[in-house]
Amino acid sequence: MQKITMKKPASKGVVRGEVFLYRPSVLQADKSSISPKATAQELGRFVDGLASARRRIVELAEKSEIFRAHLDIADDPFIHETVAEKITKEYKNAELALEETANQICLALSEVDDEYLRERAADIKDVCTRIMRRLKGVSFEGLNSIDKPVILVASNLTPSDAASLNPNYVLGIITAEGGNTSHVAILARSMEIPAIVGMTGITDIVASGRDLILDAVEGVVILDPDAATIDVYEKKAKDFQERKLALKAISKLKAETTDGHKVSLCANVGNLQDIQSALPHGIDGVGLLRSEFLYMESQGFPSEADQFLAYKTAAQKNKGETIIRTLDIGGDKSLPYYQFEPEENPFLGWRAIRMCLEMVDVFGCQLRAILRASAFGKVKIMYPMMISIEELEEANALLNTAKKELKATGQAFDADIQVGMMIETPAAFVLAKDFAKRVDFFSIGTNDLTQYLLAVDRGNFKVASLYNFLHPAVLRSVKAIIDAGHEAGIPVGMCGEMAGNELAVPLLLGMGLDEFSMTPSQVPEVKFIIRNWSYQEAAELAEKAINASSLTEIMTILESIPKERTKDGPYKLA
Ligand code: PEP
Ligand code: MG
Repeated sequence: MQKITMKKPASKGVVRGEVFLYRPSVLQADKSSISPKATAQELGRFVDGLASARRRIVELAEKSEIFRAHLDIADDPFIHETVAEKITKEYKNAELALEETANQICLALSEVDDEYLRERAADIKDVCTRIMRRLKGVSFEGLNSIDKPVILVASNLTPSDAASLNPNYVLGIITAEGGNTSHVAILARSMEIPAIVGMTGITDIVASGRDLILDAVEGVVILDPDAATIDVYEKKAKDFQERKLALKAISKLKAETTDGHKVSLCANVGNLQDIQSALPHGIDGVGLLRSEFLYMESQGFPSEADQFLAYKTAAQKNKGETIIRTLDIGGDKSLPYYQFEPEENPFLGWRAIRMCLEMVDVFGCQLRAILRASAFGKVKIMYPMMISIEELEEANALLNTAKKELKATGQAFDADIQVGMMIETPAAFVLAKDFAKRVDFFSIGTNDLTQYLLAVDRGNFKVASLYNFLHPAVLRSVKAIIDAGHEAGIPVGMCGEMAGNELAVPLLLGMGLDEFSMTPSQVPEVKFIIRNWSYQEAAELAEKAINASSLTEIMTILESIPKERTKDGPYKLA
């Protein structure tokens, strides 16, 4: 028996099965050059291969958002022009021209800081492999040949691989590459297949046919388990299934405490696919639409029309409110088409609202798009990173200009659109009472608030142990922000990671938080916790935690919570 490693799971579940080690053959281009006379023929081959690949992508795009992004890649003029140039000017054959173009783009993406954009290199490769197969006349040896239950192990899986697998036979997935925002992770979550991704070296350790337990709850892989271990994990798998069913059963119920106090449970989303995957969890709305993803996935600043379409569709898909956060770029998020000047402290630098207030055309374009979408659903606007009343006034002045522009051209929008702000800087927290008189709602951004309050970089591995939103300074600030909002009569939500944290939820509930917004997959667990507390008991717990002076004391209080109140407890259907 061999216990391999601990790794954060990408999609939860516990399964045992036989390994299917997937090693797709790599298609390589012939390196020989062509004669100048053959360029037209070679171009024709590329155009035919592209057209044939495109037809298949169109079919797949009808079923999955990911392939709609593949369609954009297949239609990308930059790729077409670069391939054509390599054929006509450098006399490369079509396969080589395509391979070099894909490698060039993927290399540029690999140097980008943003994990999400780095992962998009996999899409480019996938589309180019699809075209390459047509050029070489190779049929697809996909995963559809699997005809018995297996645990699929691979270096990585492309969206095309994932689309060809049969979820009835693939019990679990382990990949050596990829992060939790990679496509394989996203697809595994949407197909509810337990998965661990980024398990370096796994393909060298396992072989097809070996017995394997995948514990994608704790993040453990066990090879050739003994009988006692099999018993333990069979029980764990059964418990997990029961819990999943119980959580599904409450998806249509409200997030309401045992004494009738109701809160909203919302989703943090980056795109339409996230909204789609959040809906089955019974969300009350979208508490944070991170609009920057639209900018990061575009070839240039997205047009008003493109943004309008994206925001309108988001608002229409989701029956509840959609809070659209205005562009929050800079810091750890960059744009492939915009050169940010290097900064010593990008997190303290030119980012988010600071950038928008200077790039008024970009900001105005976004504000008009959001306003236009507000005619089609319950849309709210939220400003990020605010530190002063002046910034709020400036942003609102630009919003008024955008409203006037739309009125002048007869475009519809919600004239009473609600405008709120994130409280994620220490300045916003200190001025919370003043801000509360001037906005319609608050949403606490604990990811940044924690880093700025504790002076601990949220992305620095070396100080990761100091970064904790249960720190007494953060807890007391959160309570003060909630109180400031309520005093002024406005609702207070939270869209930082803390809102979906099982330990923090009863505390936030007891502090009076009105809306919890989180990664969609966290919604069922959080709803379960809320439905197992009374508001009064949660308030008593929060009171104790607020009075604690140290993180140690806070942890002692939280660890004393009876198990049936936590995610580890038995699942009663309340
Ligand atoms: C936050 O800071 O808590 C937040 C939700 O914003 P982001 O993580 O996008 O900075
Ligand atoms: Mg933030």
